[in-house]
Amino acid sequence: MATRKERQKPFLLPQLCKGCARCVETCAKHCIELGTEINPETGLTPVILHLENCSACGLCVDACPEPYGLRDSPSAEEFELQDPAKMFGERGSTAPRAVKIPDEQIHLPPLSPMVLKGNYASAVGALLAGCRHVFGYPITPSTEGAELMAKLLPELSGVFVQAVSEVATVNMMYGCGGAGLPCMTYTSSPGFSLMLEGLSYMIGAEVPGVFVNIMRGGPGLGNIAPEQSDIKLACRGLGHGNTHAIVLTPSTPQEMLDLTMLAFELTFKYRNPVVILGDGYLGQMTGKVVLPQTMTKPGIPEWAVYGDARHRGNLINSIYLAEADLEAHNAHLDAKYARMAAEQRADLYQCDDASVLLVACNTPARMAKGAVGALREQGVKAGLFRPLTLWPFPVERLKPILPHVSRIVVVEASSGGQLEDELRLALSHAGIRNAPDIESVRRSGGVLPQQSEIVAGVLGGTHRPIPAFVARQEMTV
Ligand code: SF4
Ligand code: SF4
Repeated sequence: MATRKERQKPFLLPQLCKGCARCVETCAKHCIELGTEINPETGLTPVILHLENCSACGLCVDACPEPYGLRDSPSAEEFELQDPAKMFGERGSTAPRAVKIPDEQIHLPPLSPMVLKGNYASAVGALLAGCRHVFGYPITPSTEGAELMAKLLPELSGVFVQAVSEVATVNMMYGCGGAGLPCMTYTSSPGFSLMLEGLSYMIGAEVPGVFVNIMRGGPGLGNIAPEQSDIKLACRGLGHGNTHAIVLTPSTPQEMLDLTMLAFELTFKYRNPVVILGDGYLGQMTGKVVLPQTMTKPGIPEWAVYGDARHRGNLINSIYLAEADLEAHNAHLDAKYARMAAEQRADLYQCDDASVLLVACNTPARMAKGAVGALREQGVKAGLFRPLTLWPFPVERLKPILPHVSRIVVVEASSGGQLEDELRLALSHAGIRNAPDIESVRRSGGVLPQQSEIVAGVLGGTHRPIPAFVARQEMTV
């Protein structure tokens, strides 16, 4: 007959105790007290055992989260200490190479076009790209993306976590992306600002993830009306250090779907987060959306910390304490950014013979497109250059049309000229001298540039804002 193993009084390996005090709270006999001496090996303060009254109940051992901190072995001598770094197999160059499990493309039956709001179209695109992990919270005007994911993911064996904060959201994405799983969040300007520290960590650790930022008015809390307030933040300010991410700018619900699918492809291609910048109107705008013919069943990348035997040698982190190591890592990131620069995309409308080139993205590009038609009716050879990537700015698509352009008019919904700054930087970095004059038509605070303002701006020179109430009346027509 099998005999029940006798419980032993606990013993402590101080070098593996982090002083969390769970055992202290667990012991009804008050046999464990908080320590007062810092362990020189760990810099932590282990607990102290007084086992005179110990009943060997084992509750403290069960409470200890460290696999070898508190043990019920009879003595330290009989306990075979393992190196925690080797507990789950060898790491580093001696480990067997991790295996890449490739994506699969699944053909879809022919489907009728749908009529979808921009935020919903993006969520459908993410699901078709294989995303089953979404972290976030309601924040206007992006809420519908998280709302739809919260409804659908439990039905698709996926996970939606309403995070307690933006910091929690981005760090959940860090963990999920580090496991090699496609993940995303929906946010809006103030929430995006709060995620930037974590985004820097993800970029440093080369972790994929998709951030859909439906921009609203700023600075500060601003309002919930559309503005292109985060172009500078997304293109130039993704947290501390040497950071860049591909920034995509849709203008229609169809592009919300298409560019979300593209974002998942690019985030894994480069092991780097991707940012989708929409604006408040685009998130709420309803339009016809044609679904693709295939969807993706994601595999597992070879670098993922997935938690299975094939990936146990992997490690993801963004800390390089030695200066030379961090400099080498930054050089590695710079080389990757140079490869990412090839992902320039733009849509050109009536640009072949344009002498006046409008440059616009997101919802303002729709007004600019209308202005091109109105200007051509008045004999002005206007065209629209619409970046689909803001970083990298599609300057290679711009170069061939510049020789016949005499004026560039940047149309945007931001008071500081954030799109114009990206254009000027791109022209400068590309070494383009004698670029055409650059003018602007700008509104802000939730007011979008209207077609009539753009036409007036082109015909009359640099635009001066008209009173906001006039613009609001035009928007309702
Ligand atoms: S075995 Fe039970 S009595 Fe002994 S120290 Fe742990 S919790 Fe306290
Ligand atoms: S529960 Fe474990 S790690 Fe925490 S203080 Fe007790 S022995 Fe140390």
